[in-house]
This record gives sequence, structure tokens and C-alpha cells, in this order.
Amino acid sequence: MKIILAEGDITEQSVDAIVNAANSSLMGGGGVDGAIHRRGGPEILEECRALRASRYGKGLPTGQAVATTAGRLPARWVIHTVGPVYSRSEDRSHLLASCYRESLHVADSLGAATVAFPAVSTGIYRWPMEDAARIALSAVRQAGSGVAQSAVREVRFVLFNPGAYAVFERALEQMG
Ligand code: ADP
Repeated sequence: MKIILAEGDITEQSVDAIVNAANSSLMGGGGVDGAIHRRGGPEILEECRALRASRYGKGLPTGQAVATTAGRLPARWVIHTVGPVYSRSEDRSHLLASCYRESLHVADSLGAATVAFPAVSTGIYRWPMEDAARIALSAVRQAGSGVAQSAVREVRFVLFNPGAYAVFERALEQMG
């Protein structure tokens, strides 16, 4: 598995699947979620509604992932995952790592070879970028190695501004 970093808008990525930092309602929101629904069109929300009416009556739990169409986006699927809200008093890193692991698991079930991730939980959910980058990169790296390794060929982290890109770049270097 190749891990690459890009700076830009995830809705413009031509990959098999883009990951959405959704909230558990699956009904859209701000940040990257808002951008994906705006640019992808109403088909995505329709499928989210159907998921709420069937498998996820109470919403998608934190740390889990589910796929829908990507509508008008230049990707085939959107994989929605719910990041944890950052907490100073409670370590929720396992839930953030789970977002990446579960998203790749869904990607495998779809047969997606290329997947783009935003920096889940680092916006409205306030997770510090450096810590989030370390957790994200190590979770993806772990999923790409070992016995039950993911078949995803390329994971692209799409960072929304130069600062976030620099933090991910440093974290990747430090991992060696
Ligand atoms: P969360 O609620 O999980 O924190 P946000 O969407 O608020 O989700 O933020 C997650 C990250 O996505 C933030 O670093 C934010 O800057 C970034 N982001 C926002 N819009 C986009 C976009 N269009 N493409 C890529 N990243 C984005």
C-alpha cells in the first residue's frame, strides 16, 4: 500500500472512494461533510436516508464506516465515517484509529483500490492536527501490513491547507 499526501479539496479527487468525516446522523453537516453533499448532489443524502431507515436507525456509531454512491463527484463511492469529538479528559484515539481501519475495510468490500481521506476529527471535532496525523498514518500503515492486510493500493490524505499538509508530512517522516 502506498501512502501519499496531497493538499487540496477532497471533493476534486479522482479516486475510487473518498472518505467523509460525517456525523452519526448521516444527514450532512459542516466542513468536509457539507462540501461532499454540496458537490456530490442529492443522491448521496438519499442513500444516507435509506441507511438511517434500515441498518442505522440510531445513526452510524463513532468509529464505524458505511458506503454510499458518490453522486456527481469524480469518485465512485463515498465512505462515511464518524470521528470522535476530541476530549482532553478521555483518550478516544482508538475510535479515531477505528475510523481509518473500518473505512479501509469497507473499501476492501467494495473493491476500491484508491482511497482519499480527509484529516478526520480535526475540524469541528477539534482534534489537534499533530496527534490526529500520527494516529491516522499509523492506523493506515497497520491496515496495509500484516496477515489480514487491506488490498487498497493507494491511500491519499487530502489536507485542506498548507499547515495541515506540513504536519502530515512531518509525521510521515518521523514514522520512517
Ligand atoms: P470533523 O467534524 O471530523 O472535525 P470537519 O469537516 O470539520 O470534520 O474537518 C475535518 C478536516 O477536514 C479539517 O482539517 C478541515 O480543515 C478539513 N476539510 C474541510 N473541508 C475540506 C475539503 N473540502 N477537503 C478536504 N478537507 C477538508
